[in-house]
Amino acid sequence: MSHAPIPFIDLAAQRRRLGSAVDEAILRVVDHGAYIMGPEVATLEADLSAYCGARHSISCASGTDALALVLMAKGVGVGDAVLCPTFTFAATAEVVAWVGATPVFVDSLPDTFNIDPASLPQAIGTARAKGLRPAGVITVDLFGQAADYDAILPLCAAEGLWVLSDAAQSFGATYKGRPVGVFGDATSTSFFPAKPLGCYGDGGAVFTDDADLAEIMRSLRNHGQGIDKYDNVRIGMNGRLDTIQAAVLIEKLKIFPDEIEARERVARRYNDALGDVAIVPQVRDGLTSVWAQYTVRVPGHDRDAIAAEMKAAGVPTAIYYPKAVHQQVAYKMYPVAGNGLPCAERLATEVLSLPMHPYLTEALQDRIVETLRRALA
Ligand SMILES: *Cc1c(COP(=O)(O)O)cnc(C)c1O
Repeated sequence: MSHAPIPFIDLAAQRRRLGSAVDEAILRVVDHGAYIMGPEVATLEADLSAYCGARHSISCASGTDALALVLMAKGVGVGDAVLCPTFTFAATAEVVAWVGATPVFVDSLPDTFNIDPASLPQAIGTARAKGLRPAGVITVDLFGQAADYDAILPLCAAEGLWVLSDAAQSFGATYKGRPVGVFGDATSTSFFPAKPLGCYGDGGAVFTDDADLAEIMRSLRNHGQGIDKYDNVRIGMNGRLDTIQAAVLIEKLKIFPDEIEARERVARRYNDALGDVAIVPQVRDGLTSVWAQYTVRVPGHDRDAIAAEMKAAGVPTAIYYPKAVHQQVAYKMYPVAGNGLPCAERLATEVLSLPMHPYLTEALQDRIVETLRRALA
């Protein structure tokens, strides 16, 4: 048996498939010289809108900036509570603290890893008890599957809360026939290289059907500009997407639907091969996932020992996430819903992510499966 290390994500295989298309697109930008807000930026934004159905796409410098643009455009600040899951990447809560508001952490569901809608009313109660004004909710579509919008959106509407969907891991997924990008007031995503749709650096985007919000975010990403760059009508940021990254994404978006299908095939094969030895991820009826991560749960096992055994056999694993955000040093002073977040804390001790990308061959996948099965035996 070969013991050459398996890549966790094989961007080199994708690069071989893309051939010279991306290289040529990059060179065109290098030659035309419009490195900032060049024509590829507007083209990409139109392509993204056509892809996900949102009326407005605003590209920006990262998924974190995308989240921040929405909070800034909504005027979120001191005294506001923003509810968000604790079982997520820290950026989701980080932006809330940036604008001076208070993140209030909510619990997750064990089957989808997403927000537990039952935790939201508890978080609203916690916020009010602390003298904070509940302003909005950041949902996260973790590992590629959309959150339970049918439960979350009416609840938020009844409470007067806006909804920002953090789709850094789920852009390309669908929820009951509608693409991610059209749920809530706005959707943010990330084009970090390891995301399902990644560029060759940092990048992100916000999607919304709200024309006023879109106009404010276009201004904010460019130092709060009014009629031009030297007319500043609000406090903004340098949050633009580089033209070169837009050119890369235009080419990668062309193969994205096909890559999503390949991810789905890989995920199904994992589920079939591992369902009897680990808790394998479930996609709810009517939803599709883009499988940003393929994450199993291994309760009752020594997860570190499993990961070490697999590493020794040349099979990389990852833990998303070893701690919930409210357990992190920088965030542990912030309030949590109800009496604690037991599901998220348990997930953090049980999850193990396996190599997942559209170019994973059946032979390599079989080796990953065999290695995990042996480690669990
Ligand atoms: C990656 C990620 C982000 C941040 O995106 P960056 O482009 O790295 O800034 C935010 N939220 C979630 C859930 C993510 O996975």
